[in-house]
Amino acid sequence: MTSYVAAIDQGTTSTRAMIFDHSGRVVASDQREHEQIFPQAGWVEHNAEEIWENTRAVTAGALAKADLRAGDIAAVGITNQRETALVWDRRTGKPVYNAIVWQDTRTDKIVDELGALGGGQERYRDKTGLPLATYFSGPKVKWILDNVEGARDRAEAGDLLFGNMDTWVVWNMTGGPDGGVHITDPTNASRTLLMDLDTLSWDESHAADMGIPLSMLPEIRSSSEEYGRVRERGVLSGVPIAGILGDQQAATFGQACLSPGEAKNTYGTGNFVLLNTGTEKVMSQNGLLTTVCYKIGSKDTVYALEGSIAVTGSLVQWLRDNLGMITTAAEIEEHARTVPDNGGAYFVPAFSGLFAPYWRSDARGAIVGLTRYVNKGHLARAVLEATAFQSREVIEAMNADSGVPLKSLKVDGGMVVNELLMQFQADILGVPVIRPVVNETTALGAAYAAGLAVGFWEGEDDIRNNWAQDKEWTPSMDESTRETQYHNWKKAVTKTFDWVE
Ligand code: ADP
Repeated sequence: MTSYVAAIDQGTTSTRAMIFDHSGRVVASDQREHEQIFPQAGWVEHNAEEIWENTRAVTAGALAKADLRAGDIAAVGITNQRETALVWDRRTGKPVYNAIVWQDTRTDKIVDELGALGGGQERYRDKTGLPLATYFSGPKVKWILDNVEGARDRAEAGDLLFGNMDTWVVWNMTGGPDGGVHITDPTNASRTLLMDLDTLSWDESHAADMGIPLSMLPEIRSSSEEYGRVRERGVLSGVPIAGILGDQQAATFGQACLSPGEAKNTYGTGNFVLLNTGTEKVMSQNGLLTTVCYKIGSKDTVYALEGSIAVTGSLVQWLRDNLGMITTAAEIEEHARTVPDNGGAYFVPAFSGLFAPYWRSDARGAIVGLTRYVNKGHLARAVLEATAFQSREVIEAMNADSGVPLKSLKVDGGMVVNELLMQFQADILGVPVIRPVVNETTALGAAYAAGLAVGFWEGEDDIRNNWAQDKEWTPSMDESTRETQYHNWKKAVTKTFDWVE
């Protein structure tokens, strides 16, 4: 009897394996963090071989904790940090360079040069739904081909492969140099600046702009179908790999946002609000991305509008790791509770420039409104409030684009255990914030995609029925306080502009 589905969540800070039962509840999980490599200001890298080792280890760990074997698992789904770009040798399986992480801003000059070819930041918007920005994969691949000795020649000779972390993990799971399957799904491919949103195929002219040979690019398959079986002599040997979704699209799926107008906000390293727009591709007039939400087998593509925020939970990490102001992430809430408000301080964490709705790579972080009065508690509040203010900015943009104001917000991710933040989010938005029982929606979404493909779940109604509410926060702040604080935040944001010349 195969009574379970597994998911591998290859995230920005860690890799997780989780096992779910038919009701969508977590049976077991295992997790390992990997090193964050910061070679210079603005650069962020991961060691892809470490990530692959961790993937194997956590998969074995989760199975062992649940006392299960490969034969108990109906399918495995993959979800991953998006945009993070890797190039490796198809014969040896060795990366030619570390993975360049989505937060990395080293491609700012490449991005300017591409824009100067014509069209500026909007050059690829019509076909890809994206502004030209350092965030996306294509320019990162160009950087590797331009800067790693011999890489472009090897790429042109057909020896190198590109992939995001989904592609890397699946290629290794299915045999690596020994016949590994080189694929991705449209949610990941839609974040490269190389995929046409209508045809779900690679755009040759974009690849040519960036000097990326088409032979490097993975085949784009749907988000839910059997791609192959685990061949590596390991713990899941023989299990079908049957789902791939980028992490934010997976969370949208796991939150059962399956109808147009439904949205979720995930609070992790960064924050990502996705609104399901159905089979209609909505082009943003307000600084959001148009992206693929999911494509289930041969069914029509479902699209989303997305508000991506680069730094939210990672600001809490920064306080812990770079300032030593707290020793655990949870301590931020204790400090914040020592004061009733932010004392006038606002912290704009533009560490990777600003993503939605601004898309300014010239911005850098700032703390403003400081006086002798401000103490540790006020700063802790300002750190948490930054997440909520940034979320309001992208939700306002979404309301403007869709013309339908959001009535409530489903939330998930590592930061939603923070009750003070959740209450402040409801206060600053003026709508209820709702947390589900299963907060691991990213892994769950990948499990659903895989389970649907093999018939473990019959259809989307199973997903809707499995969703259950844990807690709801309702707004309690008066209107004038809300709007004054938001006005101050907006003013603080303008102080971060034009920092990098
Ligand atoms: P990801 O999937 O992006 O790696 P997670 O969803 O695991 O991230 O969330 C981890 C983030 O949540 C970290 O950046 C961490 O600082 C933050 N975090 C964890 N616990 C808390 C807390 N109690 N309060 C605020 N932030 C928290």
